Amino acid sequence: MIKHKIVIIGSGFSGIGMGIKLKKAGIHDFVILEKATELGGTWRENSYPGAECDIPSALYSYSFEPNPNWEHVWSKRDQIFQYQKDVARKYGLLEHFRFNERVSSAEYAQQQWTITTGQHTYCAQHFISAIGQLHERATPSFKGADNFIGEQFHAAKWNHDIDLADKNIAVIGAAASAVQLIPEVAKQAKQLTVFQRTPNWMMPKPNRAYSLFEQWLSRKFPILSRLYRNTLYLLADGVLYPALSGNRLAMWFVRFRVTRNLNKHIKDPELKAQLTPNYTIGAKRLLFSHTYYESLNQSHVGLQTQPISHITPNGIQTVDGVITSADVIIYATGFITNPFFKSINVQGRDQSLEQAWLSGAQAFLGIHTHGFPNLHMMYGPNTNLGHNSIIIMIEAQAEYIVQQIKNLDHTNKTTIEVTQSAEQHYNQELQIRLNNMVFSQIEKSWYMDNGKITNNWPGSTWEYRRRLAQQNQSDYQIS
Ligand SMILES: Cc1cc2nc3c(=O)[nH]c(=O)nc-3n(C[C@H](O)[C@H](O)[C@H](O)COP(=O)(O)OP(=O)(O)OC[C@H]3O[C@@H](n4cnc5c(N)ncnc54)[C@H](O)[C@@H]3O)c2cc1C
Repeated sequence: MIKHKIVIIGSGFSGIGMGIKLKKAGIHDFVILEKATELGGTWRENSYPGAECDIPSALYSYSFEPNPNWEHVWSKRDQIFQYQKDVARKYGLLEHFRFNERVSSAEYAQQQWTITTGQHTYCAQHFISAIGQLHERATPSFKGADNFIGEQFHAAKWNHDIDLADKNIAVIGAAASAVQLIPEVAKQAKQLTVFQRTPNWMMPKPNRAYSLFEQWLSRKFPILSRLYRNTLYLLADGVLYPALSGNRLAMWFVRFRVTRNLNKHIKDPELKAQLTPNYTIGAKRLLFSHTYYESLNQSHVGLQTQPISHITPNGIQTVDGVITSADVIIYATGFITNPFFKSINVQGRDQSLEQAWLSGAQAFLGIHTHGFPNLHMMYGPNTNLGHNSIIIMIEAQAEYIVQQIKNLDHTNKTTIEVTQSAEQHYNQELQIRLNNMVFSQIEKSWYMDNGKITNNWPGSTWEYRRRLAQQNQSDYQIS
């Protein structure tokens, strides 16, 4: 049994950010367990061509670690991944990682957590989850897929050994990853067919490289980077957020931007109709691309909107009987939604998380759940955003958790637990607010679990940070 004060699971932006905040607070007795062979989370896994962030890097990065060397406004995956590695090294985290440690269960008993991986058993006072919301790949099981004679793989597990040049390629899916990879794959493919189930609203994303002068300015005058970051922050919270919460002017503005984007690039009326969603903007994740629509205009790229019936040995057959031949099938089909702890058996004081969350995942501030003392969650239930950088939420959570741990250390007690009434009251308020937002104006999306919105936060990030900063300790019991 390996003993530490704190065990963190996950080495993406959450796990790294948490580790840094702990070290800054003088807490060094912790390990970060990671199932993969290196750190990085989302940015380790998603190496598909065209992978990049959707929130400008000046904002999609730690506030305490600005990077004047970003090469693009929206950075490419490789540079984000490198940034994570550099930051982890700079803050002395490397000695805390334990790789190839897939956590399978965690059990609370006698005021401590016992955490089991395939290799070891760890025991800790505090158990911090940083497992992310988008890490379990979703691959639909189409009839006949096993008999397909070509290559097939998921976008988040890109097979870099396969040369796509002059191949017939089918991409299943037309959402966030698909719109990034399709323009790149189209550059190589002989024929590319996109199988779209639902069209998505898409904002323009005029990505460009920073000039050397801009990088120099940002290195020389960090205040300028700070101002730029703050401006981006205010735009996201001040324009995109109001649009998601029903503000008419903000909604008009976003609608204007997305429809102009579509009209500008797509002239064919039939294609335009196929690409026009029939749901309220923002109800599903808003996409960002400057190149996707253009790529569909190419003669060797086609859009197939008929549902897939099955996969044949040589291609894909849709329900209308049309067969599209393919040498390679790429599943841009996203991730298992609401993955919160589904792959880890977490046993709390009286019951498992699975039992506690029978009607959908929920937590107080997205961090604490009654019956699970000293379990702290990052990017947990109802902390996802449709409008701003997740890293803002992650940093606020890391600071909050450190504060709770320090507060506890100042008493002669060992456990902290949110009260049942605080958690219930908080979640009732949350669900009422979410039901008035655009996220609820659709039957199904990855934000929902059986009709309940379990992923998204209903407020601005400003509000979330304020609530964490003003948190009332009477919502907790310590023992
Ligand atoms: C392609 C893509 C682009 C995105 N772009 C943006 C963007 O522009 N802006 C934005 O705000 N958000 C974006 N996101 C969301 C993104 O997931 C978050 O911004 C952020 O990376 C989440 O970090 P995390 O550390 O919480 O989770 P992750 O990065 O998912 O890391 C979780 C880690 O936990 C590990 N883990 C999971 N289960 C176990 C286990 N049982 N045992 C051990 N280890 C485990 C995983 O291997 C992984 O390393 C994007 C997501 C994707 C997929």
